[in-house]
Amino acid sequence: MATSGEAYRNRAPFLAEYHVEYDSKNTMISGHLTGVRINKRMELLMNCPSCSSGETQRLEVIYEQGTSHSSATSRTRVRPFMGILPMAMAKTKTTGVTMSKAAQKAAPPAKMLYKVPIIGVVVGFVLLGNAFGSRVNSTWLVLGLVAVGAFGWLLVRRIRYNMKEWPGSYAVWEKSWMCNKCGNIFRGEA
Ligand SMILES: [Zn+2]
Repeated sequence: MATSGEAYRNRAPFLAEYHVEYDSKNTMISGHLTGVRINKRMELLMNCPSCSSGETQRLEVIYEQGTSHSSATSRTRVRPFMGILPMAMAKTKTTGVTMSKAAQKAAPPAKMLYKVPIIGVVVGFVLLGNAFGSRVNSTWLVLGLVAVGAFGWLLVRRIRYNMKEWPGSYAVWEKSWMCNKCGNIFRGEA
């Protein structure tokens, strides 16, 4: 979750920019005020096996830092006219998921979705149902059988992937790191 905005600093008559990031446990992991880094969570560094840079991060951390989920509320202090008028708080609420380029690259392996094959199987059964009217319609019969067979096969493959292959891929992802210098993704020992 990231909060960005503008705030007064030391009651100075100018606006300063701030950007604060929190992890899932609401611990501040980084903060910038007019470009000055306030705080950064210390993290065990892993050297990149490709370029031996120490600027590496776990994929999970990159993904979480670069992804802001659903609702983020940013409060902005507004004190117009050089402090003559009383202080006011402006609240901005943004919803949705925004992902940085790095977060997209560091995203965990996705589970296969069942929506398309299920719709295909249902459509196939509808065609089969229509095939048996007062007399058998061979076109619909063939189309129905093909649809049920093909989408059913796709559905089984996807279920099998999610149950057998996805957990392993996810476990590998959890232990993978990315180099911020050369972009190499490698498996950490931790
Ligand atoms: Zn590297």
